[in-house]
This record gives sequence, C-alpha cells and structure tokens, in this order.
Amino acid sequence: MNQPQPVVAELVQSLGYQAITPDSVNWLRASQPWNIAVHQSPLAVVTAGTADEVRAVLAIARHHGVSVTTQLTGHGANHRLDGMIVLRPSGFDELTIDVEARTARIGAGVRWGEVAAALDGTGLVAAFGSNPSVGVVGYLLAGGVSLFSRATGLGAWALRAVELISADGVAHRITDGELMWALRGAGGSFGIVTAVEIDLFPAADVYGGKLLFGLDEAGDVLDAVLSNGADADSALNMSVNLTQVPKRDDIAPMLQGVRLVSIDVFGFDSESEHMRTLDAIRGDIHPIVDDALGHLAVSGVHQVVNEPTKPSASGDFSRLATVDRAMIDQLVELFESADGQVLRNVQVRLLGGRLAEEPGVSAIAGPLTDPHLVLGVGPAVPGDERVDRAYARLGEIVEVEGKPRTVASFLTRGQDYRDAYDDEAISKWFAVRDEFNPDALIRSNRDPQR
Ligand SMILES: Cc1cc2nc3c(=O)[nH]c(=O)nc-3n(C[C@H](O)[C@H](O)[C@H](O)COP(=O)(O)OP(=O)(O)OC[C@H]3O[C@@H](n4cnc5c(N)ncnc54)[C@H](O)[C@@H]3O)c2cc1C
Repeated sequence: MNQPQPVVAELVQSLGYQAITPDSVNWLRASQPWNIAVHQSPLAVVTAGTADEVRAVLAIARHHGVSVTTQLTGHGANHRLDGMIVLRPSGFDELTIDVEARTARIGAGVRWGEVAAALDGTGLVAAFGSNPSVGVVGYLLAGGVSLFSRATGLGAWALRAVELISADGVAHRITDGELMWALRGAGGSFGIVTAVEIDLFPAADVYGGKLLFGLDEAGDVLDAVLSNGADADSALNMSVNLTQVPKRDDIAPMLQGVRLVSIDVFGFDSESEHMRTLDAIRGDIHPIVDDALGHLAVSGVHQVVNEPTKPSASGDFSRLATVDRAMIDQLVELFESADGQVLRNVQVRLLGGRLAEEPGVSAIAGPLTDPHLVLGVGPAVPGDERVDRAYARLGEIVEVEGKPRTVASFLTRGQDYRDAYDDEAISKWFAVRDEFNPDALIRSNRDPQR
C-alpha cells in the first residue's frame, strides 16, 4: 500500500475516524457529493462538529500548504475541489426556533427539511428553496431563491448573524460590515461557518400544490402563467416545469416517466386573491389534475415539489432572463425534440415581488430585476452528446442582452461568482477576502480567479 501523504496522516492522527482518506474503505461514498454528475478527488474528507476540530483541520492545512473547503452535502459541487481538504460540518446540528422573535438559530450541519419540519404549526416560514436535502448555510451564503421568494426576498437577505472560524482559527460572530456584505451571497470563502441566525416570516396559512397539464398545452400554460403572474400578489409564488415525471415508487404508476407540464404554486394568506390569478391562468386550458391545491404544513411544501432527496445529477443550466412568447415556443420545441428527450426538467421560476426591491440590508446579492429564472436539468450521462447539445440550445433560446447572469446558488460547472455579480462587486469581494482570508487557505468552489 502507498504511504499516505504527510498531511493526510496528520489529519488521521489528529481527528481519528472523522478523517476519511483515499485508503479508507468508505472513501468513494465519503468523497462523492450529492450531485453525482460530479466526481471529486480531494486529499481527505473530514467531518467536524466542534470549533476545536475545525481549528485542528485549519492548522494542519496551513502547516502543509493546502486549502480547506467546506461542503456539507455537495448539492453545489462542481469539480473544483481536487487537492483540497473537504470539511463537512455535519456535527454542528443546533436548531432553535424563537417564535416570538421570528428568528431561527441554525447550525452548519442542518438541512432545510429539518428547519421546515421545526416550523410546522408555528405560523412562520423560512426563505427555503425547493429541496429539503439542501444545506441551510450553503444555500444562504449563495443567495437562495426560495419557494416563497416573491414575498421573502433572497434567502441571504434574511441572514442576521453568521458565526464562523476564520483561517487563523479565531471564532467570529458577524452581523454587519463588509464581511457581512460578502457573506450575503458570495460567502463560502471567508471562514468555516458554524451557525447562522436568520429572520423568519409570518405566514398564518400556507397552501399550494401542483397543477398538471398535457405537453400539448405547454406553450399556452407557460404563456398564461408568465402573463398573469407578472403582477400577481407577492405572497403567490409559481414556477412552470416542462418535466419528465421520475420513475419512483412514491409516484402514481400512471404518471411515472410521463412528460408533461406542471405549475407549482405556493402562497400564504390572501388565498382568495391568489385563486383569482389561478382562475385567470387556467382559463380555457384544461388541467389533467386540478384539485391539487390545499392547505399545507410548512414541511408539506417540500412534499408537493417532490424533488429527489437521494444523491442525483443536478442541473447544469441556469439564467436570469425575460422569457417571451417566442422563447416559450422554442423551449417547448426543444423539450419535445430528439435532443430535448435527455432533459428531465426545464423550469421557469417567476421572480419579481420582494426580489426586485432593495434588500434593506447590505448584501453583494442585490435585487433581481429580471422577471424570470430559467433552470435546466438533464441526466448525468457522461459522453452523451445530446446532453451538451440540449444545454447549448437552451443557452441560445434564453437570450439576454449583455453577459448572462444567474443567482450564485445556481452556479454550475465552469461558473464562478463572476457569473452572478458585476466587476465592481467582484473587486470589493477580493478586497474583503484579502482582509479576512489573505492566503486563500479557505476556498469555495465558486471563487473567481483574479
Ligand atoms: C436538487 C437541488 C435543488 C435546489 N434548489 C434550489 C432552490 O430552490 N433555490 C436555490 O437558490 N438553490 C437551490 N439549489 C442550489 C443550492 O441551494 C446550492 O447549490 C447551495 O449552495 C447548496 O448548499 P449545500 O450546503 O447543500 O451544498 P454544498 O455543495 O455542500 O455547499 C455549497 C457551497 O456552499 C459553501 N458552504 C457550505 N457550507 C458552508 C459552511 N459551513 N461554511 C462555509 N461555506 C459553506 C461552500 O462554498 C460550498 O462549496 C438546489 C440544488 C439542488 C441540487
């Protein structure tokens, strides 16, 4: 057997079984991110749950001149962690809801599904996204477009405090200043975050569901949602999916594998006003399933969306845009084409509402003025040229003026914070990193090059 590298040997000596190395029997499972389309070859994977364990990893990395990156789940993985130590903060599992203050304190090992469940019955929601297995901290540090975003704004704007251990091993509680600005949207590069405190939002009555339509109605459905949704009340959130229903046991057999159109609808309060918007959308279009809207527990929202929670291939296309009728027709044409058969989902999320307003806090992630976010998900089929062609075609269809941009939480392969923020913001970001992490000992996989 090869001798382990000195840095790996020291990690094992210091952290014991919490350091998993390429020699370990469970290496493949431990080093594999949630996004199985990505293969990563870090030096070692270390789990941590105390500040001292984090300090030990940072000290060993500094001593051996290697970098540390934080990855709880690997939903945001993108091939850029080779040669680094991956730190999984899964032991930081604190979760406290203060109903009266409308805040939550959440450890870096917690995923959104746990927070949603803790909010059941409180009359409060958090600005969480579509998948319960996404990590809270990784989502918030990258912006975070919530299922309630038109009412709550970006997840990062809800950050009140971030507790982190900086590269020199010192623990900080950050609530304002330039570092907080950077943490609200481009935040994986300044320290190992151990916990956050966030604002929660009053939502007495959460409801929602899925409306399903045949694929032949796709163009009209998209058009109706985008035109009627533009000025809809901000507590009403919708996304339209051209989608292939997965073949999973928890899905009715008659729907498994079928390609159709769905509208995911979530709102709270003002239900009668929202129903008028939905009636206008349905108009003459006849859904296959139309009785699916109902009152939900907060955790029920994720059950309605029903994304995979087990490791899967995640999306490789995301772009902020203004989707018009011509684009809609081309998106439908692509989805129905031979190349488009490899796409599992093309989603248009309605933005606007609170997202388009000033954040009210200092944040690199500013208002989103584009009305739509387009996402594309294909399966992980290495070498299948149809996948690359389908993504390339999506890029041609979703045309924008100037440089295409997305929200940092949806940055994908080959992209970094420059694909989410302008040059001025990136220069300021480098100034913050030079001050708080001058040797770039801690890295995120979305760091730009200078
Ligand atoms: C199926 C699926 C659904 C999604 N839905 C949404 C959605 O609805 N809205 C949305 O905005 N995004 C969504 N995303 C994107 C997701 O929010 C981002 O990829 C997010 O960054 C994932 O965080 P994570 O901790 O789970 O992933 P990881 O890959 O573990 O972390 C991503 C990055 O966050 C940073 N990070 C994580 N934890 C820490 C920490 N403790 N300290 C410092 N840095 C840290 C690191 O830089 C890391 O590279 C989705 C992704 C998938 C795969």
